[in-house]
Amino acid sequence: MYLYNSATHKKEEFVTHTPGRVEMYTCGPTVYHFAHIGNLRSYIMEDVLEKFLRYSGYEVNRVMNITDVGHLTSDADEGEDKMLKGAKREHKTVMEIAQYYTDAFFDDCRKLNIKRPDVVQPATGMVDDYIRIVSGLIEKGYAYISGGNVYFDTSKLERYYVFNDHNEEDLAVGVREGVEEDANKRNRNDFVLWFTKSKFEDQALKWDSPWGVGYPGWHIECSCISMKYNGEYLDLHCGGVDNAFPHHTNEIAQSESYLGHPWCRQWFHVAHLNTSDGKMSKSKGEFLTVSLLEQKGYDPIVYRFFCLQSHYRKGLVFSGENLDNAAGAFNKLLKKIAALTDNSGEVDKAAVAEFKEKFIQQMGNDLNTSMGVTALYDVLKAKINDATKREILADFDSVLGLDLLEKAEELRKNEAAQSAKSAGGYTVTGEGDPEIDALVLARYEARKAKNFAEADRIRDELKAKGIVLEDTPQGVKWSKI
Ligand code: AMP
Ligand code: ZN
Repeated sequence: MYLYNSATHKKEEFVTHTPGRVEMYTCGPTVYHFAHIGNLRSYIMEDVLEKFLRYSGYEVNRVMNITDVGHLTSDADEGEDKMLKGAKREHKTVMEIAQYYTDAFFDDCRKLNIKRPDVVQPATGMVDDYIRIVSGLIEKGYAYISGGNVYFDTSKLERYYVFNDHNEEDLAVGVREGVEEDANKRNRNDFVLWFTKSKFEDQALKWDSPWGVGYPGWHIECSCISMKYNGEYLDLHCGGVDNAFPHHTNEIAQSESYLGHPWCRQWFHVAHLNTSDGKMSKSKGEFLTVSLLEQKGYDPIVYRFFCLQSHYRKGLVFSGENLDNAAGAFNKLLKKIAALTDNSGEVDKAAVAEFKEKFIQQMGNDLNTSMGVTALYDVLKAKINDATKREILADFDSVLGLDLLEKAEELRKNEAAQSAKSAGGYTVTGEGDPEIDALVLARYEARKAKNFAEADRIRDELKAKGIVLEDTPQGVKWSKI
């Protein structure tokens, strides 16, 4: 597989420390509010990546943190604590907020067919590890205590800006923007590893440490959680592109200084989902969630389909119109799959192998999901029997995660029930159960064919289900007693 590596700015062959095994880490959500669909774009693309790696034969160990402490609103080391802000807003404790929004996040993931990582670790459960690693960094001379806090000393590094498509001057402005300069820092880019003195006197979660009662900085959690569950060598680290700086840059600084060797080979960053008027943000009040899409009548999988149609390294603009287009295309695709009803042929193994090979090539080219989606149409157009088509579609869908065969079957049943309802000018109205509609219609057909025994048998079956029939000028109306 070839993947773009944002640390080297090149598409490279994907190589792992241990052949055949991928140690994969994903920055998880900050659980002070619902995830917005922009966050979920990142998780959808990371999910497809994980599934594709497994599909290609790798064993994958995927680890994710849950940020339930210490993520600041400014993304620098100042600003308000996001968790505390959420707790105040909802008059709950920080831990109640964390639990509620963690559950909500995994609910959204389930609706979008995003697999739960093998390890999910809340940041608050790892404080002893942070203390151990921060102590190690102080001992090795990479961290210092100043004004009661512990800081990482970026001047000790040969190279700090790893993802250097950023301009150093811009970054420096970014770090300072909107926040007061922290006078305790020795260097502009130094960052907090452990807070004891800060502007949030009312910080809810605090732990004892060698430097006083306090709490960890945001970046240290990912380094420690990954070292614990992925080991000293990480193969693949994922996140949205906004995480590249300062978060991932600081993770690399901490981890490599502590370990004394290179840490993560491959960095996978997903470009943002934006609305036409700018970036999506959880801290902006009203924002787009999966529930909101559902309330508007969209199947969440349509959003997944929408995301897969674009490459993960390209910015994606969300609008109702764009989502409607995706919904229309998805429905057409399902209709084509629903029409694959000929069960007479044998599965053509050679054709399956050929299509699979092409799919691996296309998806293996920097996770080209739009080509992965196109491959579905190629299968539908191919001169192979329905059974073979269904087999290949199911195989591709184990990576794409669109529930194609299940949804196509649902569509077929609904359409069959719909047409059954008004066959031969005879209309069945009822309480919205296609199976009963079909039975009532079958009884009518049997009577028309003078097959009274069958008509009576169906009448008894309906009766046993508690269905009563009432004749109307158009046909029949049924209801449940
Ligand atoms: P957060 O919950 O803010 O820590 O973010 C969770 C994940 O979503 C991180 O990987 C972010 O980089 C990513 N993310 C944030 N905003 C967007 C966006 N508009 N589009 C795509 N990913 C995003
Ligand atoms: Zn992280």
